Order: sequence, then structure tokens, then C-alpha cells
Amino acid sequence: MKILLTAAECVPFAKVGGLADVVGTLAHEFVQDGHDARIIMPLHSKIKHKYRTQLKHICNFYVSIGWRSKYVGIESMEYGGVTYYFVDNEDYFGGPIYKGGNDEGEQYAFFCRAVLAAAEFMGTEFDIIHVNDWHTAMIPMLLKTQYADTKLAKCSTVLTIHNMMYQGKFSFDFVSDVLSIPIHYFTSEFLEAYGCANFLKAGLVFADAITTVSKTYAEELKYEFFAEGMAGMLSARANDLVGIINGIDENEFNPETDEKIAANYSTKDMVGKAACKTALIYETKLKIKQSTPLYAIVTRLFKQKGIDLIMAIAEEFVSNDIGFVILGNGEYGYEQFFFALAKKYPDKVFISNEYNEKLAHKIYAGADFFLMPSLFEPCGLTQMIAMRYGTLPIVRETGGLCDTVIPFNKFTGEGTGFSFKNFNALELLDAVNLSLATYKNKKAFNKLRQSAMNADFSFKKSAQEYLSLFKSLLKK
Ligand code: ADP
Repeated sequence: MKILLTAAECVPFAKVGGLADVVGTLAHEFVQDGHDARIIMPLHSKIKHKYRTQLKHICNFYVSIGWRSKYVGIESMEYGGVTYYFVDNEDYFGGPIYKGGNDEGEQYAFFCRAVLAAAEFMGTEFDIIHVNDWHTAMIPMLLKTQYADTKLAKCSTVLTIHNMMYQGKFSFDFVSDVLSIPIHYFTSEFLEAYGCANFLKAGLVFADAITTVSKTYAEELKYEFFAEGMAGMLSARANDLVGIINGIDENEFNPETDEKIAANYSTKDMVGKAACKTALIYETKLKIKQSTPLYAIVTRLFKQKGIDLIMAIAEEFVSNDIGFVILGNGEYGYEQFFFALAKKYPDKVFISNEYNEKLAHKIYAGADFFLMPSLFEPCGLTQMIAMRYGTLPIVRETGGLCDTVIPFNKFTGEGTGFSFKNFNALELLDAVNLSLATYKNKKAFNKLRQSAMNADFSFKKSAQEYLSLFKSLLKK
């Protein structure tokens, strides 16, 4: 199959969250399986020079955005066997990956337009266009309306929802202007939701199939709490919605070969893990013993990630003999809370509010436990990465956390982490206390650690599920 994946971000070029990891890994798996998978993404200014120098200019042309004519350059390079196309436009992609507000709406309306114009210009006949989240969700609608009479219309579209919370809501006048959409599409049958033109809704209406990133999240989306206003829409398309769990890039996140960590290790030889812990304690200047349990979080600091629960138990949590390392950036209030906590307990608590991939790897390798008490979690990658490094996750039973973490069973000793059910700080505290008690029982703890490291989080099986879905959509 000829598959074109489109997304706002993709590793290793530009990454804000898990979306970037997933798109890159998935394309790689498709290519490994013998398919022609290519990725098209914006040429963000933050893409490193070492990649920019490898770009080949493919073509350039202009598209209309409202009354303006806008430049589209298509640059390309191969990476890991996958062909990447980059949409070049300095006005739209010369700044942040996500500009916010109407600027972001125009940024990605332009991107959707540019993707289709580029596909038409280059003449490749794709079988599948795979769009990801609201930033690319207008593509199926444009394809089935404005491109209905072109060769492109032969391809099928699949929308993957990585996070229902972000939908891309704008005034209809604005969207109609930038994408030349006639007024009759501004109805609840098509683009309209709660008085706004909604990019994600357009994808939900027009994509041939819809996927989301775990089976549990696909179920949860039947409820308004998770569906963010789209439960009705999703129930109308319930037969076209499937949950396919994400995997992780097992080459990038591999304690046996990872060059970013202090020492390598595996289930057969865990000496390196202890060295990674020593190095992390040293780097974060914590004054804890090697034997003290070390907890960590690596996350965007937003409400979704259950930060409020951690704040609620913070004092009691820190009163234990523990270390706590936080790598996260996001909402100012959350960042400031952890800075205050680290100031009060400098010997036990460390925070960095950078986006720092190297430090993230060191934390996955050096910590003992990984906190992830999310309010909701479509899939979550960090808990899987932590497990791969033998760092046991403590998660709330929601979305992909349910599908990837097997809770510790104190009777059989089975499990790959700890979990609790309700979004309640006392339940988190109970789970933390259980983890502390288990840490003291070396036999039980080591067994859990081995099971976590042996769990299969590769993308192979999920990639096959995507491919069989794609095959079922092929148009003769
Ligand atoms: P989400 O996509 O909701 O942010 P995921 O768990 O799916 O959460 O993926 C988060 C990805 O971003 C992981 O690869 C994680 O290591 C990375 N990440 C998150 N915060 C940081 C940070 N401050 N520095 C480095 N990497 C981070």
C-alpha cells in the first residue's frame, strides 16, 4: 500500500508529545512490512541544522488562503527508510510548532491545504491518507469536497484521535475564509459543533475510519466526560471506531543500548541500573542514599496528567524516606508548586521545567518508580518507557494506562506496576504506600521489575492492526 501519514509533529524532527513518537514509529513499521509509507509534516524552524542540510527541494507552488496567495515549498529526505516531506513556509512554521488561537487555526488550515495540493502536484497515487488529531483533521473533508473530482479522491482516509481534548474550534467565518468552505457546511451534520467550526469534528464526519490509541479510551469515548462534546458524534460512527494501542520505539528506548544513560543494563544484568540511579542522584544533587526509593515524573504539566493528585499528597509523600525527581513543563501554577516543594525539601526533591530528552532518558533509567495518576490518558507512552527501563509505574486506571500496566497482585506477585481506580488523592497515596512496602521486599520488587522489563511494548502488533484496517478500506 501507498500510505501518506500527516501530522503536526514527528520524531526526530519536531516533538512536543507522544504524537511525534507514534507517527514516526508507525511509519517505520509500515516500511518494515514492505509498504510505501511516507510522512508529511511542517518544516518547523526548530528542526535541527543537521537534518536541514540533508533536505532536497522537490517542488514549490502557491495556494490560496483567503484572499492571499501563500508559498508552499516541499522539501524531502529519507530517514530510517521512510521518506519525509516537509512543508516549507516561513510565515506559518518559522515560529512555535503550535502558535495558539486563530494563528494556530490558520497555521494548520494552511498545512491541510498544502498537504493535498502537494499530493496532487507530485502525482503519487496514495491508497491511504492517515491524519492525526485536529491539526490534520480537515484533510478528509477537503478531499471529499474540494478534491472530489481529482485523482486524489480515490484514496481512503483514516483519522487517529490521540487526544479528544484538543479539537481545533474556531469561528465559521474564519475557517470559511482560510479554506474557502461554503456556508452550507456549517451545520451539525458537517463542521459545526456548539456554534463553532470544529476541525476534529470535520475529521470525525468525513474520515473513512476512525481510530484511537487504546481500546479502553475507545470505550471511554462513549461517555461525555472523555468525549468532550463528541459522544453523540462518536456513537453515530461507533462501527467505524477502533482502539489500537500505541507502542514505543524499542531502539530509541532500550536500556541495553541507550547512549544517553550512565550505564547499560538488561534483565540479565541489572548492575547498570544501580549506576544510572547513582548518576541521577548526583546530577539532581539530591542527598538521598542509594537504597532510598526514587520516584519520578516526566510529563507535560497539565491537569490531564493528574498533577492535582500529586499536589494533594505531596507533603505526606515527601515525609517518607524517598527522593522525587520531576521533569516537566506546562502550566505555570504546577511548575511553581514543584519549584516551591524543591526549595522546601532540596535534599529530596528536584525539578527541571525544561524539555530535555537526555535528562528524560536518565530519569527513566535512574528512578525506581514513575508516577502517572492521569485524569484521563488516551494511551500514554511514558509508563511503557518507564517499564522498559525497569522503573515501575504507579498509574490511575484510565485509557491506555489500563491496557498497558498490570497491577501488582500481592498474593501471586504478578504485575508490572501499581494502579488505583478513582481520581482520588487518598487512593494514590495507598498505591504509593504499597509501592514503598513492596520496595522493601526485594524479592517481590525484583520480580515486578523483571516482568515490567519483559513486557512487549513494540509497535509490531499494532502496526498490523492499522494495516488490516487500511486494507479493508482500499478502493478497487
Ligand atoms: P503526551 O503525548 O500526552 O504528552 P505521552 O506519554 O504519550 O504523553 O508522551 C510523552 C512523550 O514526551 C514521551 O516520549 C516523554 O518522554 C516526552 N516528554 C514529556 N515531557 C518531557 C520533558 N519535559 N522533556 C523531555 N521529554 C518529555
